[in-house]
Amino acid sequence: MLEKYKQEARELDKNDKLAHFRNQFEIGEEIYLDGNSLGRLPKKTLELSINLIQNQWGKRLIRSWNEHWIVLPNKVSAKIAQIVGAKPDEIFVGDSTSVNFYKLAFATLNFQNDKSKIITDSLNFPTDIYVLQGLIEQQFKNHTLTILTSEDDMSISKEAIEQALDKNTALLTLSHVVFKSAYKYDMQKINDLAHQNGALVLWDLSHSAGAVPVNLNESSADMAVGCTYKYLNGGPGAPAFLYVKRELQEKLSNPIWAWFSHQKPFDFTLDYTAKNDVQRFAAGTPSVLSLAAIEAGLDVMIEAGMPNLREKSVAQSSFLIELVQNLLEPLGFSIASPLDADARGSHISIQHQEGYRINRAMIEPADGSPSIIPDFRPPNNIRLGIAPLYNTFEELFLTVVRIKKIVVTKEYERFGDEKLTVI
Ligand SMILES: *Cc1c(COP(=O)(O)O)cnc(C)c1O
Repeated sequence: MLEKYKQEARELDKNDKLAHFRNQFEIGEEIYLDGNSLGRLPKKTLELSINLIQNQWGKRLIRSWNEHWIVLPNKVSAKIAQIVGAKPDEIFVGDSTSVNFYKLAFATLNFQNDKSKIITDSLNFPTDIYVLQGLIEQQFKNHTLTILTSEDDMSISKEAIEQALDKNTALLTLSHVVFKSAYKYDMQKINDLAHQNGALVLWDLSHSAGAVPVNLNESSADMAVGCTYKYLNGGPGAPAFLYVKRELQEKLSNPIWAWFSHQKPFDFTLDYTAKNDVQRFAAGTPSVLSLAAIEAGLDVMIEAGMPNLREKSVAQSSFLIELVQNLLEPLGFSIASPLDADARGSHISIQHQEGYRINRAMIEPADGSPSIIPDFRPPNNIRLGIAPLYNTFEELFLTVVRIKKIVVTKEYERFGDEKLTVI
């Protein structure tokens, strides 16, 4: 059976129209299945960053603001807009996802001030829930937070959302693709349900942008946030983005009144007047070095095309699921991601009671074989992230073979249960 799968993987790689994109990234010895946490370095980014530091900063100094930097946020926003199906003037890039989430949640609760209910789910990324808890504690003291719980810890039904929504709902906020199981919501359907109740929806696209096709405009989305260092390959801590549809922009107010959201920052007047477009969600000076580093990754993604990437991602995740079912389920693994491709993003979570130690053994092999880098999410999920821009089918095959060996030989017993700081 192994030989059959190996041949199949090689055949799939041979026929892969996107295979050449792998060359546009720095690739080492390791098998990297963590593009859902920190995407690989595009070669072009290295080149551009060196130029930026040596020449734009090193030689041109402050003159580079007018020569290059002041237009950079708009240039990058327009490219992100293309990837998430928005208009260029509906995207702001800057700050972190958490900060942008705070700005938009705050603005929504202020705008919808006759309603006091906020709805999210237990599958959401904790930072979003913390921000909501903080807003209620510090500012919106009469609001309530409803966290819908998932029965299988994998998905939440449309019906559960429908039941929770009512005319008192100010905000519904969800991760479009959830970070543990990769369950993917039907964005259009959820937006429709919320709008029927007069609620606004704020989507977190951190595990969607660059992973699955997103069309914010076509899906009638109100607002979204997302990060660029995962599938968009923008680099560690790269600036995040936010989206506000045009009709809402002037209705929502940034809780941080700062000079970069002022209509005329360089007039240095002492009265605040907010910009009247999406740039009103800016705060301070853009992080030029990390902002510039995003662009090359976006270019690669736009060149490959999201529909093509999705097609490959689905083929890869389906192949991986088949391998897990046949080779790993007999060893005590289970699949904690939807089997229906339409309902999942671009990673597969597998669970095993020794999940943490198995993940450590993958990263630090005893037998000198290449390191395989997944990530681990408690209590026992090993996430295998598929980035179709640079992952091959053969890598998926080798990963499953290696996991099998780790379990059969109990190689994981070399490790303790104590967790590293970043897992
Ligand atoms: C990764 C991730 C974040 C990260 O937030 P930062 O503020 O950029 O650290 C937020 N939300 C989701 C859903 C994520 O997956």
